[in-house]
Amino acid sequence: MTQSFPTPAAHARELLAKLGVPALPADAGHPVRSPIDGQVMTHVAFDDAREIGSKVSAACHAFAAWRVVPAPRRGELVRLLGEELRAAKADLAALVTLEAGKIASEAAGEVQEMIDICDFAVGLSRQLHGLTIASERPGHAMRETWHPLGPVAVISAFNFPVAVWAWNACLALVCGDPVIWKPSEKTPLTALATHAVLERALARFEDAPDGLCAVVLGGRDAGERLARDPRIALVSATGSTRMGRAVAPMVAERFGRSILELGGNNAMIVTPSADLSLALRAIVFSAAGTAGQRCTSLRRLIVHESLVDKVADAVETAFQRLPVGDPRQPATLLGPLIDKAAYDAFVEAMNQVRAEGGSVAGGERLLIDELPDAYYVRPALARLPAATACMQRETFAPLLHVAPYADFEEAIAIQNDVPQGLSSCVMTNDVREAEGFLSAAGSDCGIANVNIGPSGAEIGGAFGGEKETGGGRESGSDSWKQYMRRQTATVNYSGALPLAQGVRFDL
Ligand code: NAD
Repeated sequence: MTQSFPTPAAHARELLAKLGVPALPADAGHPVRSPIDGQVMTHVAFDDAREIGSKVSAACHAFAAWRVVPAPRRGELVRLLGEELRAAKADLAALVTLEAGKIASEAAGEVQEMIDICDFAVGLSRQLHGLTIASERPGHAMRETWHPLGPVAVISAFNFPVAVWAWNACLALVCGDPVIWKPSEKTPLTALATHAVLERALARFEDAPDGLCAVVLGGRDAGERLARDPRIALVSATGSTRMGRAVAPMVAERFGRSILELGGNNAMIVTPSADLSLALRAIVFSAAGTAGQRCTSLRRLIVHESLVDKVADAVETAFQRLPVGDPRQPATLLGPLIDKAAYDAFVEAMNQVRAEGGSVAGGERLLIDELPDAYYVRPALARLPAATACMQRETFAPLLHVAPYADFEEAIAIQNDVPQGLSSCVMTNDVREAEGFLSAAGSDCGIANVNIGPSGAEIGGAFGGEKETGGGRESGSDSWKQYMRRQTATVNYSGALPLAQGVRFDL
């Protein structure tokens, strides 16, 4: 059943007020559009160089105070943030839908991911453990300790407008680091709303230092300013490989630390033993979900030659039937692309497929008369006789390439033969194929799944990818170590001064 909703602009005003964001300028500053109708929802003011500088200075002051707060007490702030996020979940998710165009269920899932990482970080705040190491010298004790690192800048992409901040901020805060967030210029409203939620947690916490968390609004220039600032100890940057190529040398030049979470070009191998009904559901969700705008979206389908037509036909039919439209409608499974540039890149990529001898089914623009400034599309399936050059690139849209393989080693070689290395999966019921795929000679990606699509990771594991995906890891496992500095300490509790390696230096 179709529900009626206010215009995105009116809906955004209502949600921003409920979430506690101070009134924004209606007609001056940077326009913020909703991909739902392509219209301006409101405007925001970008930070200038002076404002960015003073937020970094405030973060440095906050660091001096925050690093000596016991980690479990720092965890209390994140616990309160988790409570506030639970209370704000529905409204924040609705704002994610308005600003990024995700369907309601995926937007709610994104906010749930923020809550999950809060829970993880609260536990972690009591587990920031080091090591004791056997010393070769008598009467000596050696240990390794983790200390807070310093201010962390988080540069985030439009497609996960709030979760990526939470992955970084929750770990950084329990590790003792202030956080400065530069969200995508396409999604500043969800950042302001998240900050308002965080401020409620800070008020309840009572004694957090001023400047502990800040939002910097701006585009590429603002991101570059943070990347170059030697006072920022760690830059965690999520976005395109083009952005990472610019940011990495800026941070490296000043010997800063970076976590790079860049583009993916994720593949699925479907083998003859696969459960095809499971595979079909995994393919359609991971290729068309979020309108193909996840870093882990499925872009390349490598199917055994005996099955390739059958699988491709089933995917084509499923793509044709997917309900496309306003992502706020409960029945919609495919919302809009973020903007015209995304649509143009989608069209260009389909043209390249045709130029390389492939055929494309789907890919039409939809709802043009009703919403001429928004970009809704039918997902596209590109059939190729073999893996060709067009499969080397990430196109951030629902475009799935399918190509055949003859033997399993060849399938793995095709899967690995791209510059990116984020996520990958195999659909098989053959244990040799499953284990081979996960072995040292298998997938070269940061994420490798069996009988699951490449998208939809949980926060408990370390998230990130190899090669042009940047090599960074965030979220679970031991990713927290990147937000701390390691110190090796040796204590001599003997009355002698023996030197290591038997060196003699008698005075
Ligand atoms: P983008 O690269 O255009 O922008 C990302 C962020 O980087 C924005 O905040 C932007 O303002 C900033 N930025 C851009 N150029 C910069 C520069 N030279 N210096 C400093 N900051 C700069 O990416 P997008 O279109 O917002 O997001 C889509 C891309 O992000 C896709 O490639 C996707 O795969 C990738 N992504 C990767 C992950 C991951 O974890 N690997 C997660 C989400 C998105």
